[in-house]
Amino acid sequence: MTTIPKALEELVTRSQFIGADQSLVVFGGGNTSAKGEITDHLGRKRTVLWVKGSGADMTNAVAVDYPALYLEELLSLKQFEKLSDEEMTDLVGKALVDPNSRRPSIETLLHAFLPSKHIDHVHADSICALTNHQGGKKAVAEALGNGFAYVDWIRPGFELSKFSSQFSEMEGIVLAHHGLIVWDENSDKCKEKTMNAVNKANKYLDSLAVKPAAKFDHVGPSDQELNDLLLALRGKLSNKTKRVLTIDNRLQEISKRKDLPALVEAGAASADHMLRIRPWSAVLPEKADPTNSIPVIDKYVDRYTKYFEANKSLLPQGYSMHDPDPRVVLVPGVGTITTGASKNEGKMLADIAFHTHSVAGKVLDSFGSADTIGDAEVFGFDYWPMELYKLSSKPKPQKFAGHVFVVTGAGSGIGRGIALELATQGASLVLADLEDEGLKETEKLIANNKGLKPEFVVGDQTKESVVIETINSAIKNFGGFDGVVMSAGIGVSDSLESLTLEKWNQGLAVNLSSSFLITKHAMTNLRKQGIGGSLVYIASKNAFSPGAGFGGYSVSKAGMLQLMRIAALEGGSAQIRANAINPDAIFDNSKLWEGGIREQRAAAHGVKPEDLEDFYASRNMLKVRVTSKDVAMTTCYLLSEDSSRTTGSVIAVDGGVAAAFPR
Ligand SMILES: [Zn+2]
Repeated sequence: MTTIPKALEELVTRSQFIGADQSLVVFGGGNTSAKGEITDHLGRKRTVLWVKGSGADMTNAVAVDYPALYLEELLSLKQFEKLSDEEMTDLVGKALVDPNSRRPSIETLLHAFLPSKHIDHVHADSICALTNHQGGKKAVAEALGNGFAYVDWIRPGFELSKFSSQFSEMEGIVLAHHGLIVWDENSDKCKEKTMNAVNKANKYLDSLAVKPAAKFDHVGPSDQELNDLLLALRGKLSNKTKRVLTIDNRLQEISKRKDLPALVEAGAASADHMLRIRPWSAVLPEKADPTNSIPVIDKYVDRYTKYFEANKSLLPQGYSMHDPDPRVVLVPGVGTITTGASKNEGKMLADIAFHTHSVAGKVLDSFGSADTIGDAEVFGFDYWPMELYKLSSKPKPQKFAGHVFVVTGAGSGIGRGIALELATQGASLVLADLEDEGLKETEKLIANNKGLKPEFVVGDQTKESVVIETINSAIKNFGGFDGVVMSAGIGVSDSLESLTLEKWNQGLAVNLSSSFLITKHAMTNLRKQGIGGSLVYIASKNAFSPGAGFGGYSVSKAGMLQLMRIAALEGGSAQIRANAINPDAIFDNSKLWEGGIREQRAAAHGVKPEDLEDFYASRNMLKVRVTSKDVAMTTCYLLSEDSSRTTGSVIAVDGGVAAAFPR
């Protein structure tokens, strides 16, 4: 590795500082640059521009995020009158020192055409608040003095870069509805200038701000009301693509404002926000409930579709309408509900919504009314090929992206194997078990496989309160759920003559009654969500082929199958499917064989305890050991749309045991 040039090092450090403050840039927004010298492949000293890579997030800036481009090459592009985005991107790409480096920002020429060594371009909240109303130019002059140029909205690209270059003698540039550009020969001074301008803007806004208009002062929804609202919304918004809903309370105060609809109409604070959260957010009525909220979503979809139809003559070739559902829903008294393939995405959208709508609140409080770019310009940005490219280069979503599942007994054995497989395929999970030790181990394995961080519920699933808490965790954390896997279970050995009533009852409680409680509460809530669901019962080969001395276990598992069949009968009309899996002899990570069960089963079969796995393998037709992964794969099938026509069935995952053939 060659050493990193000083100017680049300073640039990375400065960018990390800027990236750490979401009021300056959010998730890949804004860009920074530095100019300096390198020695090229022929040993010549060459001046280069290091500029942020397209889509790179400054929060974790590293040197490779900043591709180097030969400045001379970039400057010679100034001779052109006009360049389309595609032409410009192509020509800028030819100036890269290393053609394999990261694609440079669309705003590269903005940095190249301004002569200063260090340049910051941020989409700061306070600067956008200055410009997002009719009197933007005057407000900028009053807040920052006359040293700053004011440039009306021009979409980023060649034209904006060339136009802005004429202001290089000034202190900086304010781009209306977009952000700020400042520069200096010294990196620290550049950073200081950015912060100074932002602070001055904030001070000015505060000096003008009047108390916000009257607020609704109603009590927020109860937990039960909020659950019902979340289920209805998730059902509505997951109709085509499954989505996770995320609640965020930071906009609770703003959500109570009487002028909330006007505030949302003010649009995105900085144009780049709308790429992620759409040009507008949906606003639910006061005292939102499923009945009055679903029509709001319908109306939103209708509006988006009309906006698309009205502007589609501007649509670049090869593109079709984005899915028209809202990404951000404002709920009076609550804050925001955002949608995404995961909670991480939901949280990111909530962050952007927080900044965008807070800026609109500031604009209304300071200037009385807001103004934004016109619909056609909004459309131009919403369907801008340069940005669509960024989105299209994201990896294809995983099979269970946006899906939510509850898995009991997830701290060991089959439950752990199922949790791991579901997480590996992109699912959001609520994992339940008696103790958190096993769950933490499962979480570690999930993290190693780059799965999403699961939610835990620690407690005894034979208690109804714990079952309710488990289902509610899925609703509260993810907006609802798509399936439940009942995998918690215990082995109960002893002949009927020696089996105590206590052990018998315990087997029934854990293996059967708990499944009844989960079925009851899962079905009730799946019905409210209205998009069906899948219940998977992990029973046992013993349900069809019982073993002497294992009655307490076998009876409870046979009961589980009957419970599954009733669930299939009663859930069918609501598209709720119920199926069971009969595994046999799963040993990996399993606790089932602890507490003397292994020894007893070995004795019953006349083999040594350590030979039990081999004995079971030799007993089945395929002569194989069966693992939790095998059960997990069948579970994935039953939870997915692949099995959408299957309910009330039992699948054996036992290597083939004739006496246990489903019947
Ligand atoms: Zn920008």
